[in-house]
Amino acid sequence: MVRKLLRAALIASVAITVSTPATASNSWGGYHWARITNPVSLMVNKALTKPVWDTAVGAAVSDWNSSTGGSPGVTPPLLGSIPTGTSSILSLSQRIASGVSTKQCSPIAGQILVCNDSYGQRGWLGIASIWLSGLHITQGTTKLNDSYFNLKQYNTLEWRAMVACQEIGHDFGLDHQDTTFDNVNKGTCMDYTNAPGGGYIGIVNYGPSNVYPNQHDFDELVTIYTHLDTTTTAASFASTNFGVRLVGKAAPAPLSTQSSGDSPAEWGRAIRFDAQGRPDVYEKVLGPGQKVLTHVFWAIGEGPR
Ligand SMILES: [Zn+2]
Ligand SMILES: [Zn+2]
Repeated sequence: MVRKLLRAALIASVAITVSTPATASNSWGGYHWARITNPVSLMVNKALTKPVWDTAVGAAVSDWNSSTGGSPGVTPPLLGSIPTGTSSILSLSQRIASGVSTKQCSPIAGQILVCNDSYGQRGWLGIASIWLSGLHITQGTTKLNDSYFNLKQYNTLEWRAMVACQEIGHDFGLDHQDTTFDNVNKGTCMDYTNAPGGGYIGIVNYGPSNVYPNQHDFDELVTIYTHLDTTTTAASFASTNFGVRLVGKAAPAPLSTQSSGDSPAEWGRAIRFDAQGRPDVYEKVLGPGQKVLTHVFWAIGEGPR
């Protein structure tokens, strides 16, 4: 009994008790795919070399096609239930990208490309890059770094699920709901954490898992995508480098086909920082109104070097 009380006291003192208000918005700067109707048909191309990534990325894409958050887990292993329903905003298709360099992961016009490779011990688990024309996303990539996921610490279902889900979420124009790693999980992959599976690490209780999008993410997508545009930047069923389809507008400048790169030197200027002070969004200006933004998921204790 005494031991139990002692343990409870320890938990009370160590567990993070700060309760931050629910994030009002996790729109990433209002950036979105232009479309003339909803849902927007988006192709997610997969250049994946491992079955574990096929599983994680395939599940993430199908979760993002949902409309309703699942319930967060309350008993170990705390994974919770997967989202349900059909999104009125995103109509995602997925296919295997052939003939794509996973190392480069060069963008495909009007589409999303997800790659895995050993990008080196550069400090990051995953990055997501979006190419912008004004507020409109014209192409997006996600890179998942096996140089970390091959390590025991990150070689888990939960780490893969969270990072794949989050980096793909950025490609739709979503931001984080929370950028503190060592507080209680919000039950969404758009929340940084040291414990993607939730539950206890040592005596700290992280609460629910962060492996799926939650209701707030789906609501946010509705907010971001409620307005319609007069053009579309999504080229869902075109073959590679189809270019941006435009309705009633002059042809746009050709899109960059160059990879966003693997290091801060290639990502441009740091424009935002996480709760630990590490830069987590970089911006590279490509031309008037044209830029590429890169969201970085740093490994625990790592950062730019
Ligand atoms: Zn728009
Ligand atoms: Zn992120």
